[in-house]
Amino acid sequence: MNSSCPLHPSFPFVHFAALTLRGFALKGFTVALPLGIALALLASGPLIQAQDAALRKPVTLTEEGRKVHAATFVFDGHNDLPWEMRTKAGSSFDKRDIRQPQRAMHTDIPRLKQGNVGAQFWSVYVPADTAKKGTALQQTLEQIELVQEMLRRYPDVFEQARTAADVERIQKGGKIASLIGVEGGHSIENSIENLRRLHKLGAGYMTLTHSDTLAWADSATDAGKSQGLSPLGEEIVREMNCLGMLVDLSHVSDETMQDALRISRAPIIYSHSSARAIARHPRNVPDDFLPLVKQNGGVVMVNFFPGFVVPKAAEVMAQMFDVRRELRAKFPKEEDYDRELKRWEVANPYPVGSIHDVVDHIEHIAKVAGVDHVGIGSDYDGITKVPAQLEDVSTYPLITQELLNRGWKGEDIAKLMSGNILRVMKRAEEVAKEK
Ligand SMILES: [Zn+2]
Repeated sequence: MNSSCPLHPSFPFVHFAALTLRGFALKGFTVALPLGIALALLASGPLIQAQDAALRKPVTLTEEGRKVHAATFVFDGHNDLPWEMRTKAGSSFDKRDIRQPQRAMHTDIPRLKQGNVGAQFWSVYVPADTAKKGTALQQTLEQIELVQEMLRRYPDVFEQARTAADVERIQKGGKIASLIGVEGGHSIENSIENLRRLHKLGAGYMTLTHSDTLAWADSATDAGKSQGLSPLGEEIVREMNCLGMLVDLSHVSDETMQDALRISRAPIIYSHSSARAIARHPRNVPDDFLPLVKQNGGVVMVNFFPGFVVPKAAEVMAQMFDVRRELRAKFPKEEDYDRELKRWEVANPYPVGSIHDVVDHIEHIAKVAGVDHVGIGSDYDGITKVPAQLEDVSTYPLITQELLNRGWKGEDIAKLMSGNILRVMKRAEEVAKEK
């Protein structure tokens, strides 16, 4: 218990501005297709399900797109560069100097600049099975040190941010505000004390679970134990509210989402999740939850991984986390695991889709939850494949362009790119101060 932060069981939900339907006109669509086909598609149900990928042309960046994108900045909810550096470069920025182009990865400094990334949650992910070995906290601390090493090594590029005000100040100063996201409650090894330690070191959010169900929270991709959150799980969410640490619901089961949305006094986030109505993967957000996210004031930050966004790919990848879990148990060495995972992917091919698929998810969430409740959580350097035209961190301007093509206004694009997550952080900071 934290006596300085009494519980507020009857805290009213924060209600944000009503859904606006601005910007969902089918501009550009009907003119690109023969009228008959367009009408047939419209009559056949949701546009996104009916569109044939082959009919959708590559996006071309215009001067207007460039301008609108430059007028805001990208605040991405999830990038796994630290784990990539650990496993592929021995955690050494000498081996992979990200000031130079690093084509083997999705992320480096030149491409972050091209993408106009102004803030990033760097994931300090460690695999869920580290919990069984008792090394989850230790490895998470090493990953935090790796992020700190990156900030020390490139001080002209990155600066650590703890608050929304930090993000705004650092971004205005021309640097990339760098925040830490803990990916999976296994990192705290069932200890609220450890949660506080990670927060002290700068952890801005914690995803309640990764692929595995914990003693206190059920995962979307494992058998349930507590039908959501256990009493300890509920206490952890309350403590996160007290600390001002964002509760991240990517990867958790529907029951865990429900419990967390009921308990959290602060807006929640999905740091890297897409819409289940489009791609039926269990770790995507179902439509039923989108009005709850709106009511809670939270944000769903859309993941780019084809296996979570392309409908056909999501079917193939529905079992992906079971496969990964088995491979991790069988192949403890990272290079063996990587090789076997690649082998499995070759044996189970799936379409990678394109930028259009990702923008479909953005539009769907904006339509159902409201444009105030959608963001970007690419999952770059944590994913094995990428959609066409979203190959790396330089490509965000094309999302702005495609949204303009679909009739979005610049102010709504700015909310998606960074405004919404900043608002969520500010509100969570206020909640933490409430006595
Ligand atoms: Zn993840």
